[in-house]
Parts: sequence; C-alpha cells; structure tokens
Amino acid sequence: MSSFEPTAISRSRPPDLVSGYRLEKLVGAGGMGEVHKATQLSLGRTVAVKLLNPDLAKDPSFIARFQKEAAALATLSHPHVVAIVDKGKTDNTYYLVMEFVDGPSLRELMRSPSMETPVLLRRMLEICRAIEYAHGRGVIHRDLKPENILLDQQAGGIAKVSDFGLASFLDDASAASRFALTSTHVSMGTISYMAPEQRVDAKSADARADIFSLGVILYETFTGEVPLGTFDPPSRKRPGLDARVDAIVMRCLKPDPDERYPSVTALIADLEPLVPGSLLSMPPLRLTRWQRAKAAMRRAARVTAQTAAGVTVLAAVGVLGVAYNRSGQVRVQLPLPSKAIMDQALRDSPRNGPGRVEDVTPDKRRVTMGDGPDLPQMLVAGRTLNFENKALVFPPVDDEKNASHVGRARVDVLGLVGGVARLTARVRAEAPPATWKRRLKELWDGPPPEPVASLGLMGRDGRYVTLVHHGAGAPLTLEWSLGERGGAMLGLASPEGEVRLELFVTEDGVMQAFVGQGKDQRPIAEPLNLGPDWQAHFGEAPAPVIGCIEGTCTVEGLTYTVDKPAPVTEVTSSPVVVVPQQPPRTVAANTVPAKAVVAKKPAPPPPPVKRPPVKAAPAKPTPKRR
Ligand code: ADP
Ligand code: MG
Repeated sequence: MSSFEPTAISRSRPPDLVSGYRLEKLVGAGGMGEVHKATQLSLGRTVAVKLLNPDLAKDPSFIARFQKEAAALATLSHPHVVAIVDKGKTDNTYYLVMEFVDGPSLRELMRSPSMETPVLLRRMLEICRAIEYAHGRGVIHRDLKPENILLDQQAGGIAKVSDFGLASFLDDASAASRFALTSTHVSMGTISYMAPEQRVDAKSADARADIFSLGVILYETFTGEVPLGTFDPPSRKRPGLDARVDAIVMRCLKPDPDERYPSVTALIADLEPLVPGSLLSMPPLRLTRWQRAKAAMRRAARVTAQTAAGVTVLAAVGVLGVAYNRSGQVRVQLPLPSKAIMDQALRDSPRNGPGRVEDVTPDKRRVTMGDGPDLPQMLVAGRTLNFENKALVFPPVDDEKNASHVGRARVDVLGLVGGVARLTARVRAEAPPATWKRRLKELWDGPPPEPVASLGLMGRDGRYVTLVHHGAGAPLTLEWSLGERGGAMLGLASPEGEVRLELFVTEDGVMQAFVGQGKDQRPIAEPLNLGPDWQAHFGEAPAPVIGCIEGTCTVEGLTYTVDKPAPVTEVTSSPVVVVPQQPPRTVAANTVPAKAVVAKKPAPPPPPVKRPPVKAAPAKPTPKRR
C-alpha cells in the first residue's frame, strides 16, 4: 500500500489515541475518516484502525453508519472479506479495528499494465464470492468500487472486500431506523459504480445494486475505463479477453435490475468457467520451471474437464479435481489426496518415536510427537517414517524397490477425548533431490507429481478431516470424509517452504483450518460445522494423523491438545457437515479470530468422564505387525 501523507483533513494522530493500540502510520483516508496501521498491544500484532472523522462524529447519523459498518463486518467471516477485530470510542470519536491488509487496492492493481487477464479474472471471482457470501448473510455492500477492494500480498495477492460503511441489512426493516440510514447518506457512494435505482433512491436498491457495481468493476478491471454512455464490449478493448466476459458484464450493467443476474451466485456460475485454476493466480515470477510445466498441464486438463458436466475448476491434475457448488463449497470429482492417504487398505504397523503425552491440567491433555521423554506409539502405513532431529520425516521413495508413494502415520494414544481440540504442526513437502536417474525419468515421463503433505484427524472406518498442502503456490485444501458426507474446500495458496497448519475445533463443534502463526495466522476456507458432539462423526475419538505422497515430507512440532472431556457417542444418524449459511454465534460475532472469542467464553463444568489410560509405550519399538 502506498504511504499516505497527512493533509489538513487527515492530521497525524497521537499514537496512543486509541486505548490498547499504538497508531503507527496513516495508510488511507476516505469519506468517513482515516485508516491507520497500528499495533494491537495485547497481542503485539499489526491491525488497521479506522477512525471516524471527529467532525462527523458529532452527527448521530454518521455514528450510526459507523456502527453499522462494524455490525456488517461482524456478521461476515470469509477469506475474502476484511475481518473485524474490535470497535470502540475515544474521547471525541469512534473507531473500529480490522485485520491489516498489507497490499495495494484493486485501483492500484488496475493501474499496473502488466496485470495478466487470468489473475484479474481470479481476483474478480474472489470479490464475487465475498459478495455472494455477504448477500447470503443478508448484507448488501452498496459501495463496491476498486478503492474498497484490498489485495492481501501476504496471502498471494487475494482480494478482500472492505469498507462496509454504506452496507445495509436485507430483510431488516428495523435496521434502517436503528441505524438512522437515509438516502442522504447513501448518496455519498461513488456515482460511477452506483446502480441507476440506487442513484435515485438508495432505499429501493437491493442486492442487484451490488451486481451492477460488480459489472462496473469488471468492465474497468479489464479496460481501465468505467462504462459510461455507449461503450465498447470489454473484449474489444482487451485483446485476449474471453468474449464471454462481454455478456457477463453487459448483464450486470442492465439499467433495469430485473434484467440483471438475479443473484451473485448466477453471476459466479457464468464467470467461474472462465477463471483459470488457482495456480495461475500466482505472480508468474514466483513459479518454478516445473510449476510452469504443471500449469500448462492444468490448462490442457481444464479444457477437457470443462467439457465434462459440472466440472468448472480442476486443480492439481491427477491429484485433485473439484467443482464449486453454489455456496462456494467444492464437490469432489477425482480422487483426493487424502483418500489415498486414508485408504483403509494400507496396513498399519506400530512404531514408537520420541514424544510427550501429558495432562496439562486435569481437563487438558496433550500429545506431542518428535521430541520428548516418552515413546508414544504411531501406526505407520505405506511409506517409511523416520524420526530425525525432532521431526517426523517421510524420506524419498526408492523407485527401484517399487515402494508405495503414499504414507500415513497416526498417533496411537488413547484418551484424546475432548470438546475443544487444537492440532498444529509445521509441515513441509519437497520434491526429492534431483538425481540424474530422476532427471532421465522426468525426460521420459514428464515432471513428477507435486509432493503432497497432510495434517489431520482420523477416526474409525476411514473417517477423517485433513488439511492438505499441495506444494507452494497451489491452494491448501480442507478435505473431509465423515460417513456419508465428504467434500473439500479450496483455501489460500500455500506459501513456499515450511507451512504452519492448524485445525481448531470449538466447543460448539465448529472446525476451522488456519495457516500461519500469531499475527500472520489466516483462516483457510470456511468453517465446517460439525456440531457440539463433533467427535461422534469420526466414529471414535479421532487421533492426529500425518500423510505424505511423493517427495519428502517433514512434520515438526506436531501437537494435539484436547480440552474439556466429553463422552464420545456412536454416530446414529448421518453426520451434518455443512458450511453454515448462518455461522454459529461464536463465529458470527467476530471474524478472523474466531478462536479468541470462543476462548473467552466461560467454560462449563466438565462432565465427569473417566479417561482411559494412555496406552503404555513399550521401552523399545515393537517391530510386530498389527
Ligand atoms: P472510507 O469509508 O473512508 O472510504 P475505507 O474503509 O475505504 O474508508 O478506508 C480508506 C482507505 O484505508 C482504503 O482505501 C485503504 O487504502 C485503507 N484501508 C482500509 N481498510 C484497511 C485495512 N483493513 N487494511 C489496510 N488498509 C486499509
Ligand atoms: Mg472506501
């Protein structure tokens, strides 16, 4: 983000203006006030603090609008919507605290002439998904424009919709009065992006007004101009742009809302087939030679896949094929890596390794693998597993021996029963060292498949939830198979090198996957709502499991903590595994730091559960097969 010079309108503020935060730098200003990069002192993390202009803070209707922005953000928890952290009041104004998005706005991206069409299409799809999600939760943005779309450089340049300062709530007649929202305020929106009906009377504008704005943004993204009067179709102005984009844009821009797409979902259905796979959304310079080769393979495979009904996105050829359904969830088309890793036909053999099993408190139990005085048992299947320097390592497969390319290792410790669970590890998936033999093989067979590493929870009868790392640049995926229900969600792009992954399950059984750590931690895809009795969906108390396909996989700091024991019951009905339309209270009330809010909840007294003892770890590894 370009730095912003203080002007008469935006004077520099005392750093301690907002209690609990230190204002560092003014990064932006708009109609409502200023946005500062700041440090949240309690957590030492970077955040963005938006201050309502103190002059406007004298006007109750602006205060109401500011509160409404906070309320809209708090309703939304989505990878492509800026997350809210806090809100409050200073002596003379109001503030809200958001995650800090470190990157340019879509406006700045548009100005960069080198931006490739596939990347822009991908960004547009992300924006549409965010708005589809917001509409699904009853929030209309009403001020969509390139300035209000931020691109998160840390997360591979993904789009985040921000500035819900003009947002309104659907189906909430009282909201208009509660937030004292009148058309006067709405007229502050930006006219070029505003639907005709919104210009006339903001109150009559519904979700289709956002669709109009999306049309303007689409047009401008590809042509650099806003569509005014009579205008050329975008493909005429941008050589190489798929002509099907023209029809999409034109339908969004219809003056009569009835002639526009009836919903963003319908718009996505047309746009999505034109958007190349996620790998291409990475800046080309970051792709290795093999990744480029793979991207070419993907392109070829996509053409084939798109002819097959229902398949719109195909990522990681031969490994993962998925198709989004309307809620942004992904339907499985081809075998998922976790299917191979969790294959019940793979035979487990016990293996003990350094680790630690401890009762942190009477209710909290933790198992760590890789380092420690205990020798917990693991059940290893498929590939060899080594314990090296505090890490669990699947070494490269010896091709000569025709060995399995799939490996799995599950921690075999009993008593990991709990209402709240957290599984973390630092995971790395690397291509095997390039020996001349491998190079020769590649010349003949083409590039080898990208190594895949996974971290997850495994229950009985092949039930699991895993977080899969498909190599740098490819999206992380959350994959699950819980009885009759199974699926996958594409998440953020995997960073290069080591990736810290986390699966966190709240007391209410909301499972969320995260990548990164501390202030850089980000949610991957949407939460999975398993319900309070979540362990039952696994058939038994699930255990941590790691997996590896191809290459070398290294897992460090594998830690599983369970809290507040709850009895595990048999699954009697089919599990309910959904991406919640209305996320559970604890998640909806805030956004990214779902955990923080959940953690604050007073813990109910733990039910009296007798925990089974830890399976005694033999002093020496037992080579016996199970
Ligand atoms: P306004 O309602 O005044 O337009 P915005 O919410 O759009 O305010 O913020 C103004 C500018 O501040 C944005 O254009 C952007 O440059 C910057 N900004 C806003 N939110 C964030 C954020 N969460 N992280 C980083 N920069 C931000
Ligand atoms: Mg703005």
